[in-house]
Amino acid sequence: MMNNPYIKDFPQLNNGSVYLDTAATSLKPNCVIEAVNHYYKDLSSNIHRGMYDAAVETTMLYENTRETIAKFLNASPEEIIYSRGTTSSLNLVAYSYGLENLGQGDEIIVSELEHHSSFLPWQFIAKKTGAIIKFVELNKEGRITVEAFKEVLSDKTKVVALTYVSNVMGYITPMKEIISLAHQNNAVCVVDAAQAIQHIKIDVKDLDCDFLAFSGHKMLGPTGIGILYGKQKLLESMEPLEYGGDMNDDVNKDVSSWKTGPQKFEAGTMPISSVIGLQKAVEYIENIGLEYISEYIDKLHRYAIASLKQIEGVKIYNPTSETGIITFNIESVPSHDAISFLAEKKVAIRAGQHCAKLICDWLGVYSCLRASFYIYNSYKDVDILVATIKEAVAYFKKLGF
Ligand code: PMP
Repeated sequence: MMNNPYIKDFPQLNNGSVYLDTAATSLKPNCVIEAVNHYYKDLSSNIHRGMYDAAVETTMLYENTRETIAKFLNASPEEIIYSRGTTSSLNLVAYSYGLENLGQGDEIIVSELEHHSSFLPWQFIAKKTGAIIKFVELNKEGRITVEAFKEVLSDKTKVVALTYVSNVMGYITPMKEIISLAHQNNAVCVVDAAQAIQHIKIDVKDLDCDFLAFSGHKMLGPTGIGILYGKQKLLESMEPLEYGGDMNDDVNKDVSSWKTGPQKFEAGTMPISSVIGLQKAVEYIENIGLEYISEYIDKLHRYAIASLKQIEGVKIYNPTSETGIITFNIESVPSHDAISFLAEKKVAIRAGQHCAKLICDWLGVYSCLRASFYIYNSYKDVDILVATIKEAVAYFKKLGF
């Protein structure tokens, strides 16, 4: 089988582990690490303030990233807000849009596939405003369908907050159709794209979402940086969530005003190095091409599923996942015991509820194992995963599990 040309770009792979935990966080290519290093070694300045060379270059790199992200999403730079990650992007929408615009009896549609960061902010806002949370019923496989969405959509729906790709099931939500239906009912659509952005080409104009959130660290970028895309009109109507330096326009004892662009939502010193690193991550992904990435992951996924299905005692919950996420358990073995075994063999996967307890409840499991692939994984990684799981099954069987 062909050699993977991308492996050499990821120095973390030199530690001897098989890394199958991209859904938690991705590895970082050298170009991202170098960009972050360049900031600390050569610049280390703040943005929008100094006039000296390093400060000017820092501001330029910081704002250039905004343009790169805007192009990547087919948005305008004015619609791109830097945040700490998907979680803080979604909280910003919930507080700055939801708290202001929702009231008694209004409905918010979510699903049991939501990550806690796409559910808990809305649960909180519902409690504060008297709005009601409605769940789209998942189909037998655990997918959100357009038909089930229609069942909960009504003229009371004011917000639709759904995951584009589930971090547990890896399924792709039929988001475009859902958004179109939601807009016919004048609802605002908030898309959690944390697990989609690194797999699917997202054109926000075509998708027509009102808000879209994702994290840099799951798409080959640094931690501490996330994006909130918002339609300009909506962003203009929203109050900031944080107040402080750099977000204000004019400050007076009685009344103050805020900047009009995305900077209104970027109070204080932002994670500058991470912003700069994120630009390189996006460029790296674009150079490979999202279509190529998703085809490659699909091949690895099908190869893995074919072998895992053969192992007696392994229960796979999502064999038809489109984004290389495999969620499973070794029957009658607690998932944390299983990952300890795999960790000893240097196979890095995750166990637990994956910050998505509602889907674990839906599956009827307390916790589960999750392996996830990305562009730096190889067929050899899959072989090692499969062989190690076989060993684990035999090991726990011998112990009487
Ligand atoms: N949504 C989904 C679907 C996720 O997978 C994650 C991360 N596991 C998040 C939201 C939260 O992302 P972050 O922790 O980077 O804020």
